[in-house]
Amino acid sequence: MRKFQHYIDGVFEDGEARFESIDPATGIAWAEMPEAKSRDVDRAVSAAERALTSGAWAAMTATARGKLLYRLADLVAAHASALAELETRDTGKIIRETSAQIAYVADYYRYYAGLADKIEGASLPIDKPDMEVWLKREPVGVVAAIVPWNSQLFLAAVKIGPALAAGCTLIVKASEDGPAPLLEFARLVHEAGFPAGVINIITGFGAECGAALTRHPKVAHIAFTGGPGTARHIVRNSAENLASTSLELGGKSPFIVFADADLESAANAQIAGIFAATGQSCVAGSRLIVEASIKDKFIEILKAKAEAIQIGAPDRMETEVGPLCTFRQRTLIEQVVSESIAAGARLVTGGSAPDEAGYYFRPTIIDCDGIRSPSAETELFGPVLSVLSFTGEEEALALANDTPFGLAAGLFTQNLARAHRMTRQIRSGIVWINTYRAVSPIAPFGGYGQSGHGREGGMAAALDFTRTKTVWLRTS
Ligand code: NAD
Repeated sequence: MRKFQHYIDGVFEDGEARFESIDPATGIAWAEMPEAKSRDVDRAVSAAERALTSGAWAAMTATARGKLLYRLADLVAAHASALAELETRDTGKIIRETSAQIAYVADYYRYYAGLADKIEGASLPIDKPDMEVWLKREPVGVVAAIVPWNSQLFLAAVKIGPALAAGCTLIVKASEDGPAPLLEFARLVHEAGFPAGVINIITGFGAECGAALTRHPKVAHIAFTGGPGTARHIVRNSAENLASTSLELGGKSPFIVFADADLESAANAQIAGIFAATGQSCVAGSRLIVEASIKDKFIEILKAKAEAIQIGAPDRMETEVGPLCTFRQRTLIEQVVSESIAAGARLVTGGSAPDEAGYYFRPTIIDCDGIRSPSAETELFGPVLSVLSFTGEEEALALANDTPFGLAAGLFTQNLARAHRMTRQIRSGIVWINTYRAVSPIAPFGGYGQSGHGREGGMAAALDFTRTKTVWLRTS
């Protein structure tokens, strides 16, 4: 069985405790992972604090920090296929997707490498003739970056990149489900030459490792991606030390299709929007809100496309939908689908697990029109599309906003004025018009409501890892 290690204070170590990681394509354990206990967390945080306050990193210029980040980006690009294979093996995410996403990961590191020496302070035109006042931007401090199991390399990059550009140090906690790619990524951090303690990478369970990290008095900021329930625990824990938080949480994103849309293009976007990553994506377009006049026609197009999807082993290039990451996730999905059907929803396609071993579930479409279906309300994190229909913009908006979440929304129409009107009123952090799931290091990403607060991506994310110091100088 392959063994992975923690990376604490520049050293690779086994950790006192270990646990097994399961291959979701077979349901069989394939690797042994270290499990961080409170003591390991404390050592990692202390190492990050030492690196922040003294030694090579604390003294390094912003340009030199940027050079290290460029080196890290190059190493990620050079090891892209090995990292993608590990992510596929440990999480079941298909190789096509892990390979494509790793290219983005390198792009994000490059973007923040370039930003490192562009985070500027300011001079203030103060109303006192004998004073000069200026603002310095300083790193916020030791950062705890906590990521979920889906897209771990990507979700860590959007935290590590801006935090390092700002001069912070970090403890990155990989999810206990599928931590292999991030633990392996630590080898690239080491090779890039970051001073010991600047980036520490550990994994462990939420109840001990996560709680110890978020309660730690030396952690100044917690950058979290995961579920809203976990976020509540984290915010409660962070209150003890009043650490700041940025929260990237779940979603139940509406995908609105008007009758005037290019239906073929909307259908392709909807299929990718819900079934990519086997639906295990925070921005999954899981609620189709389609104009009533084209509902039947659009469902027929989607049904044909969903039934043509190749389900299979995640490491095969032909596979389009792989297994879910965990057995418990599939059990939850089966349960919610059957509750929805019991509540009156109509199964269009899918709805069950194929016979193969592994945590597979067929791409599923459920017509929930006119009923309150649990599938249309719960974030399922699986390949399940719930269909609702509307007549008129007002009803489309009411359905779109009928959720406590607010991460992303898709809008398909040829009518530009309508697109503007709708965008103004949709409550979500991202609106994609006639496209879906587009991302870029330059564009901020984040939610409204229970999808969290704070933004990742763009300059604003780097500024979130800084705090300002106001300096007054008496000149006479
Ligand atoms: P999760 O909330 O169960 O776990 C996320 C991380 O938090 C894991 O590393 C876990 O160990 C840790 N954790 C658990 N309990 C903790 C505690 N008490 N204190 C500190 N840390 C703790 O999420 P998951 O099931 O791994 O991932 C799925 C969720 O993540 C979904 O809700 C999804 O929408 C969300 N997500 C959001 C985004 C986004 O950018 N908005 C992206 C991807 C996933």
